[in-house]
Amino acid sequence: MARYAYVNGRYVDHREASVHIEDRGYQLADGVYEVVGVRDGKLIDEGPHIDRLDRSLRELRIAWPVSRQALGFIMRELMRRNRLRDGLVYMQVTRGVARRDHAFPTKPVKPALVLTTKNSKRADADPGPGIAVKSHPDIRWQRCDIKTVALLPNVLAKQAAREQGAKEAWFVDAEGFVTEGSSSNAWIVTREGSVVTRPAEFGILRGITRTVVLEVIADHGLKLEERPFTMEEAYAAREAFVTSATQFVMPVVRIDGRPVGNGAPGLIASALRRDYHAHAEIG
Ligand code: PLP
Repeated sequence: MARYAYVNGRYVDHREASVHIEDRGYQLADGVYEVVGVRDGKLIDEGPHIDRLDRSLRELRIAWPVSRQALGFIMRELMRRNRLRDGLVYMQVTRGVARRDHAFPTKPVKPALVLTTKNSKRADADPGPGIAVKSHPDIRWQRCDIKTVALLPNVLAKQAAREQGAKEAWFVDAEGFVTEGSSSNAWIVTREGSVVTRPAEFGILRGITRTVVLEVIADHGLKLEERPFTMEEAYAAREAFVTSATQFVMPVVRIDGRPVGNGAPGLIASALRRDYHAHAEIG
C-alpha cells in the first residue's frame, strides 16, 4: 500500500516527499511542529495541540500556512489515505524557503507545511513491563561549541538586532557577561589597550577566524585577556569588533545605540583586519 505525505498542498508518495534545501527549517531550525496521537482512527486532543501550534507560530511570527479548518481536513485526509487506525500525525511548519541569512527574509515567503503519519500498535490499558530512564544534565542548549544547525535562538537574536538598526546581536549570559555574536565572535579593546574575548569553552563557538586573530594579536605583541567581559565594559571600551569567516575582522562602532570609542573603526581592529590574510591558511 502506498504511503502518503502531505507537502505544501500535495499528497505525495512518502518515499519521494521532499522540501527545498534552502528551507529555513532544514537550514536554521526556523520552524515548529506538533504531534497528535490517533486511536481507533480518531485524533486525540486535536484542539489543544492545534492551539499550541498556533501559539508556537505566533511566538516565531510565522503565518499559518493554511487555515486551521483546512489543517483539520488535511490531517484527516492523510489518515484516510494511509489507512491510519492507531499511531500519530506529525506536522511541521517552517518559515519557508529563502536565501540563507539568519534574520527573517525581507521579501514575503510562504511558510512550508509538511505532514506525515506513523502507525503504531494500539495502546491498551496494560502498560507492559514499564520503561527505564537515565539521568542526563539539561544541556538544552548549552553546547554552543558545536556548529549545529539548531540556530533558532541566533535567528531570533539577529532579527531583533536588525529591527533595531544593528547588524549583529551580542548574547549576554545569566551573569551579565557577553558570550558571542549570533553569527560571530565578540571582542573589545579596553582603555588600557588589552584585547579581550571570552575563552572558547562550551558557551561559544571556537571561531576559526578567532583562532587566526589570536595569532595576529600575538604577532603584534598586543596584550590579550581571554576572559568574559560585561556590557558595561563593552560600552566603555576603546574599540570593539567581531570575527567570522565572512566578515573577517569587522569593527563595531555602536553598541545599544552608544558610540564605541569615537564612533569610528578602531586602530587595532583595523590593523587586525589588514593583517588577517597574512596569517590565514589560503588554499
Ligand atoms: N559564533 C557563531 C555563533 C557563529 O555562527 C560563527 C560563524 O558563523 C562564529 C562564531 C565565527 O566562526 P568562524 O570564524 O569559524 O566563522
